[in-house]
Amino acid sequence: PVALYGDGRKNSMGINLANDNDLRALADKINAAVKEWKAGPLVPGAKTAGLIVPVSSPADRRVKVGEWQAADSATVEKALENAEAAQGDWDRLPVASRAAILEHAADLMEARMPEFMALCTREAGKTMLDGIAEVREAVDFLRYYAQQARRLFGHPEKLPGPTGESNELYLHGRGVFVCISPWNFPLAIFVGQVAAALVAGNSVLAKPAEQTTLVGHAAVKLLHEAGVPETVLQYLPGDGATVGAALTRDPRICGVAFTGSTETARAINRAMAARDAAIGVLIAETGGQNALIADSSSLPEQLVKDAITAAFGSAGQRCSAARILFVQKDIADKVISMLSGAMDELKVGDPGLLSTDVGPVIDEDARQILVKHAERMNKEAQLIKEVQLSDECAEGTFFAPRAYEIDSLSRLTREVFGPILHVIRFDGDKLDQVIDAINATGYGLTLGIHSRIDETIERISRRVKVGNCYVNRNQIGAVVGVQPFGGEGLSGTGPKAGGPHYLLRFANERTLTINT
Ligand code: GLU
Repeated sequence: PVALYGDGRKNSMGINLANDNDLRALADKINAAVKEWKAGPLVPGAKTAGLIVPVSSPADRRVKVGEWQAADSATVEKALENAEAAQGDWDRLPVASRAAILEHAADLMEARMPEFMALCTREAGKTMLDGIAEVREAVDFLRYYAQQARRLFGHPEKLPGPTGESNELYLHGRGVFVCISPWNFPLAIFVGQVAAALVAGNSVLAKPAEQTTLVGHAAVKLLHEAGVPETVLQYLPGDGATVGAALTRDPRICGVAFTGSTETARAINRAMAARDAAIGVLIAETGGQNALIADSSSLPEQLVKDAITAAFGSAGQRCSAARILFVQKDIADKVISMLSGAMDELKVGDPGLLSTDVGPVIDEDARQILVKHAERMNKEAQLIKEVQLSDECAEGTFFAPRAYEIDSLSRLTREVFGPILHVIRFDGDKLDQVIDAINATGYGLTLGIHSRIDETIERISRRVKVGNCYVNRNQIGAVVGVQPFGGEGLSGTGPKAGGPHYLLRFANERTLTINT
C-alpha cells in the first residue's frame, strides 16, 4: 500500500509487474549486478585478521555468492574506541543534517534497488517480490525516521515556568548503540535499526546475522556514501561470542537494538545488567507464536488466501507469520479442503523467478529444525497437505510447505520458523478458551481475526495480548508509518518499528531550566 506519512511524503515506489518492459529492464539490471561479493568489518584504523567465510546460495549450495571476513576481538575493541570518540560531534549536529543524510541514503538505495534485490535473492534466498518489498521497506525506514527525527528532535519543547524562568525539554542521543539484526530481513530490519539509532544522535556498531553479512555490508557502504561518518557507523560481522557478546557486556555501550530469538534477547539483557556501568536500554523484537482465529462468519475464500500468504509467504520466515489457524468447527471441513487445494498452486523453487511463491529456507540448520518438527507432526497430527518439491529444489535448502491438523496448541512448544501451518478446530461457544490458550503461550506479536461479527472482533482483539492485530486480511508485511510493528510478552520489549514513538527509545531527554 502507498500511504502518506503526514507531511506529504509517500512510501517508496513499487514496480508495476504488469509492465513487461519494466520487468525485463529490472531483470537485466539484477543480472548485471550479480558478482562475487566481498564483505568484512568497516572499522577505521583496524587491522582485521578474522576468519574468511565463503557464502553459497540457499537456492543452490553449489553457487558461490561471495565471502566475508569476520571481525576479531582487536577490531571490536577499535570499533568501540572509535564509536565513543565520534558520538559527541555527531549528536551535536543539527538534527536536520542527520535527517538529510538518511534521506540521501534513501534516494541512493531506491536507485540501486536491482543491486540490493540481487543480494537479497542470492545471499538470503528472497523471492523477487520479497526482494522488492525488502528494499522498499528499508527506503521507507530511512525516510520515515528522518521525518520523525525532525518532528521530535527539531525544536525543544517549551514548558511553563514562573515569571523569570524558562523551561525547555530536549532530546539527544544516548551514546554508543549496538544494533544486532536478523537474517530474515537482512536489509529492512538492519537499516531500520541503524537509521533510528543514528538519526537520534547515537554512534552505531552494527552486527549483522552471520548468514547475511554481504547485504549488511552493502547497506553500510551506502550509508557512508550518503554522508554518515565512518567512525559513527561501523560494521562488525562475526560470530555471537566474538562480536555480539563482547559488545553487549562492554560498559561503553548505552543500549542494544535487537531482533532475533527471545533466548538471545534474555542473554543480552543479562550481559548489560551485569556491567559495572550505567543501565542500558534494550529494544528487542523477538519471536512469535502467532494465531489466526476464524469464526463461522468468515469468508472461506478470503480466509484461505490470507492464511496461505501469512503462513507460507517468505517461506514462513517472518516473526509475524501465522503458525496456527483456529477455525470454528462449523466451517472447518470446507476451509481445510480449500486450504489443501490452494496449497497445490504454490510454486516452490528458484527465488530469482517472478513466478516463485516460496523460496528456500535460510540454511541447512534451519531446514533440519523444520524436518524434525515435521517428523514429530507426522506421528502426532493429521497431515492436510505437503506441497511437492520439484527437481530444481534438489541442491538448495528447500522445505516443502505443509499444513497439519492438530488437536491442541500444547503440541507446539516452540516457535517453528518456516512454512508449516497448524490447524485447530474449535467449538463456537469455546472462543474464550481459544483466547486464553493463545495468551498462555506468553508470546504476543501478531494475531489475525477473520469474522464479520463486530462483537466477536472486539472481544478477541481486546483480550488477546499482541502487538499487531489484523482483521479480515493477512497478518504479515507491516508497512512503515502505517502499521507500527512490534510485540509484547515473550515477543519483545514493545517499541514499534516504523511508528511515531520508536525514536524516543533511542534518545535521552534533558530539561534546561534558566532563571533569567
Ligand atoms: N515486519 C515484518 C512483518 O510485518 C516481520 C518482521 C520480522 O519477521 O521480524 O511481516
